[in-house]
Amino acid sequence: MSQETVNPAIPFRAETRQLLNILIHSLYSEREVFLRELISNASDALSRLQFEMLTNRNVLDPDAELAIRIETEPENRVLKISDTGIGMTAEEMVENLGTIAHSGAKAFLEAAQTSQQKMTDIIGQFGVGFYSAFMVAEWIRVISRTFRPEGQGAVWFSRGEDSFTVEPAERANRGTTVEIKLREDAQEFTRIERLREIIKKHSDYIPFPIYLGSEKEPVNQRMAIWRKASKEITQEEAYDFYRQFTLEVNPPLAYTHLNVDAPVQLYALLFIPPSPERGIFSLRKEDGLKLFARKVLIQEYCRDLLPDFLRFIQGVVDSEDLPLNVSRETLQASPLLPHLRRLITHRVLDMIRDLSTRSDDYAKFWNEFRHYIKEGIISNQEFVPSLTPLLRFPTLFHPNQLVSLDEYLQNKPASQDKIYYILGDHPLTVQHSPHLDIFRHQGIDVLLMTDPLDGLMMLSMLEYQNVRFANASKETPFIPPTTDGKAAESLGAENVDRLLKFMKQVLADKVEEVRVTNRLVDSPARLVSIQPDEDPTLQHVYRVLQKEVQDFKKALEINPSHPIIKKLAELPENDPRLPPLIEQIYENILLAEGIHPNPPGMIKRIEQIMLSSLE
Ligand code: ADP
Ligand code: MG
Repeated sequence: MSQETVNPAIPFRAETRQLLNILIHSLYSEREVFLRELISNASDALSRLQFEMLTNRNVLDPDAELAIRIETEPENRVLKISDTGIGMTAEEMVENLGTIAHSGAKAFLEAAQTSQQKMTDIIGQFGVGFYSAFMVAEWIRVISRTFRPEGQGAVWFSRGEDSFTVEPAERANRGTTVEIKLREDAQEFTRIERLREIIKKHSDYIPFPIYLGSEKEPVNQRMAIWRKASKEITQEEAYDFYRQFTLEVNPPLAYTHLNVDAPVQLYALLFIPPSPERGIFSLRKEDGLKLFARKVLIQEYCRDLLPDFLRFIQGVVDSEDLPLNVSRETLQASPLLPHLRRLITHRVLDMIRDLSTRSDDYAKFWNEFRHYIKEGIISNQEFVPSLTPLLRFPTLFHPNQLVSLDEYLQNKPASQDKIYYILGDHPLTVQHSPHLDIFRHQGIDVLLMTDPLDGLMMLSMLEYQNVRFANASKETPFIPPTTDGKAAESLGAENVDRLLKFMKQVLADKVEEVRVTNRLVDSPARLVSIQPDEDPTLQHVYRVLQKEVQDFKKALEINPSHPIIKKLAELPENDPRLPPLIEQIYENILLAEGIHPNPPGMIKRIEQIMLSSLE
């Protein structure tokens, strides 16, 4: 057949042309992916037809098998990919094959020009799949007939230069055939064995049969892997499925398979991805599970099957019980949804709990996903009991480890009746908080909480295993009463009084009160709330949320046994070194608590103190 046409050639859109150039003139070591793209288009067309037929039997060839067939004519260097899918009218061809998919095109072009990523990985990510065939084609002819009984056949033709033609054509059956005249250097794609290998590698889980040549058995295993019995799915198969499903390079952290019959029939294969960020070239564009009903794709990204905080979970869900015509709205209204959701959520939590028993793997999970777990505690009271055992924290005595609440409780002295925590901005600084002196001294461990969400989370958690949580900056463990008097004595009551008065004078607009405490060991002083209803956890949350904090003035407590305090108490009141030293003691506390408004502002004073120490 001659390629000259009576119809005028239609130019490709500008970006399309640019794209074609990039595709054709780059040399791909893996240009075989064009086949994956065409098969995936055929599969999409079949899914769409299947979906259409749920409600409409008035289609052309209603009984034709939903399948893909791939044929070759090696002598002509021709490869044909046919499907019995939804088909295209002439107008649809102009629309769908003449312009590359919209906004994606620009992103693709940019990525293609700047990315270090392999070209083949980029293709298909931006809806440019069809054009990848020009990597191997001298020309491409698409012959199609729409599923609408009254529709006509049409043929699209292009050499991939700068235009294409569309004209009416004879075609008896529903569906589409993409016919490719292979370039001389692409001869390999007429070899059946080569094609078999490519299909196995990239398209094994396409849900429709793919036939090669005149073979009667499909090449792809097709069998939705998630419908197998759990024990028949090997880790390798599951990982392989994950790779084809997401195109992510790294394996998942964990997976779980669900195959239940009651109270609802349900299959699911669910994964914890290696990280919450999808690779930029991931096949998954949004959060959500892929939902099938009786093997028909219902929703590509379904967010109704898990609570929001588990949105990082990837995978497929397939239920025999869902009505086939479920739309988002009918799904949400379906009485089945709560069952599905409960089953899936429980299973996911089990998977995470399981992972939490393997400490190395769990450390990876915790590093990547802890914010989601904390978000769950904050936003869903019902999940608090199942999520709290998953929490891990560095502690005062184990700052480089991840300690669970169970471990904390096991290791605490029997007399300790609270779980102590302290909030701060960074594990390194919070460790030095003066509030922790007494804990360090008495061997009582404290959870170090420095994630921005921790404060908010602690507002939702009052106790664990009947042991109450207590903020270490407000509540301290029991202290034997003896030390108090002794230490103050060692200073001389008179000196102490004088120092307290003087400090109060210097810090008049900053603190409400200055007093002596016996709760400090290594630190000279600390700040404590005196307002009985002032909640340091709540204040921390306000600060993290950058809300106006109502700043009650606090009490400055000093440690009478600390050498700095002792020396200060001995200085005469008119010693010029006193005021800057007192101010510096105060600001050191702000610094240690991570609430100093202007640390560099201290430099001048510190220099002054340095100078006086040199004199
Ligand atoms: P994408 O698949 O991301 O939409 P493609 O470039 O692969 O982008 O395909 C462009 C469009 O052409 C498809 O969205 C579809 O509308 C149409 N198309 C391609 N192949 C077929 C086919 N075999 N049957 C029906 N429509 C097709
Ligand atoms: Mg495509």
